[in-house]
This record gives sequence, C-alpha cells and structure tokens, in this order.
Amino acid sequence: MTDELASRLHSLGYRLTPQRQLVLQAVEELGHGTPDEILAEVQLHASAVNISTIYRTLEVLEELGLVRHAHLSDRAPTYHSVSDHDHFHLVCRNCHRVISVAPEVVAPLAARLREEQAFIIDVGHLAIFGECVECEDQSE
Ligand SMILES: [Zn+2]
Ligand SMILES: [Zn+2]
Repeated sequence: MTDELASRLHSLGYRLTPQRQLVLQAVEELGHGTPDEILAEVQLHASAVNISTIYRTLEVLEELGLVRHAHLSDRAPTYHSVSDHDHFHLVCRNCHRVISVAPEVVAPLAARLREEQAFIIDVGHLAIFGECVECEDQSE
C-alpha cells in the first residue's frame, strides 16, 4: 500500500481501514477472486469478517478505482486489482481457468466497432468463453 494511495483515499473522504487494506491485498494475492474466495483469503487474517462486509468493501474499492470486476461465471462477479496490467479474460467453460490477455489483442476489433457502430468497448470488463488448450487436448 503506497502513501500516494492512502492520500488519494483520504482526499475522497475514505480512510484506509485495515479491513479495506486486507480485502485489497486478498484480491491482489488471488489475481482473480469471487467475493467468496476473497472472504476465505481475508479470513486467514481476520476471522470476524463476513460476506456482507466483503461485498461492501469491494464496492468501495471499485468506486475508488482500485479493483474492477468482470463476469466470469453465472454466479457472483469476479474481482481483480487494477495494479495488474490492463487485460481482458479468456475463461475455460470446462475447468474455469481464467487467462489474462493484453488489450492489444482485441484492438482491431475495438477499432472496427468504434468505426462501424460508434461503440466503445470496455476491454477490462470483457470475458470470452471457450475451452483452454489442456481441456481441448483431453477431449481428443
Ligand atoms: Zn481480470
Ligand atoms: Zn480448461
């Protein structure tokens, strides 16, 4: 946690409570985590935390631009830290593995959609579903 971040939070009227710090740390450690997974990680350090606190804290962290979410399953959104490089997601329908891919890969598609539909895609929120190489190999 940087001082810069702490003062940014402060200027927005938020304090960097130990709980918020723990949740942010958990997201960073997991890379990608659902609220349940984040709860399990946080509970390693603070057993009294419950799921509604996690949801609330994630909302605040997202408002502050510290985490983002994407929809990688039919269930709860999956959160990731923005200190990771910008990326979009490939999600294996079979083993649920999440692969992060650089936004440049979809740049031609993004440019075309902007041109033809005047539509700007939110790449960080993007998830493409399919089958990963390992699952593909197994089904042969
Ligand atoms: Zn992500
Ligand atoms: Zn797979």
